[in-house]
Amino acid sequence: MFSKLNDPETGLYPDAPISVYKLFLVEQANGWIIQNAIRVKTEDTMGLIEVASGESVWRGMDYYKEQKVLRWEPAGYEQFDGTVQGESIYQVHLDIAHPRRSTCSCPFAKGRRVVCKHMIALYFTIRPQAASDFLKQVDEWEKEEEKARKAHIEELRQYVKRMSKSELQEKYLDALLELEERRNQYW
Ligand SMILES: [Zn+2]
Repeated sequence: MFSKLNDPETGLYPDAPISVYKLFLVEQANGWIIQNAIRVKTEDTMGLIEVASGESVWRGMDYYKEQKVLRWEPAGYEQFDGTVQGESIYQVHLDIAHPRRSTCSCPFAKGRRVVCKHMIALYFTIRPQAASDFLKQVDEWEKEEEKARKAHIEELRQYVKRMSKSELQEKYLDALLELEERRNQYW
């Protein structure tokens, strides 16, 4: 999955495949038309979930589980029209191949080329496999994060072990003072 933050200059995502960057570096002298072409290409190859904010994905997941999609029908290649029950009833057009061409009548998405929770709910309803794949993926990320955290703690432990007593006393005093300062900021 790509990072949510794209570079405002290039429109590229930091975690986009290297090939996209190479193409960008080779072509950047040709100016903004190429840049925009690559930006569109990058977004086109991204899935709905990658384009959406985390909040929209999780709310959409809730809507999917709560069966808030009232009805849907195919509307072309990888495209679907659906009705989703949210705060009120919204009309969603889903374009899976080109997520940013999807539309929804909700206030969040209207005219903004964003992926909202209603689109995600519709997507998961049409493709339940995508919902379970996503949950599995999140599970794996959490396990990786946990592993990285344990490794980090072990690294710190080794670092502390190598310190002399006077170094430790000095650092501990610094840490106490910093804690005190932080507490004062909240008072
Ligand atoms: Zn919406």
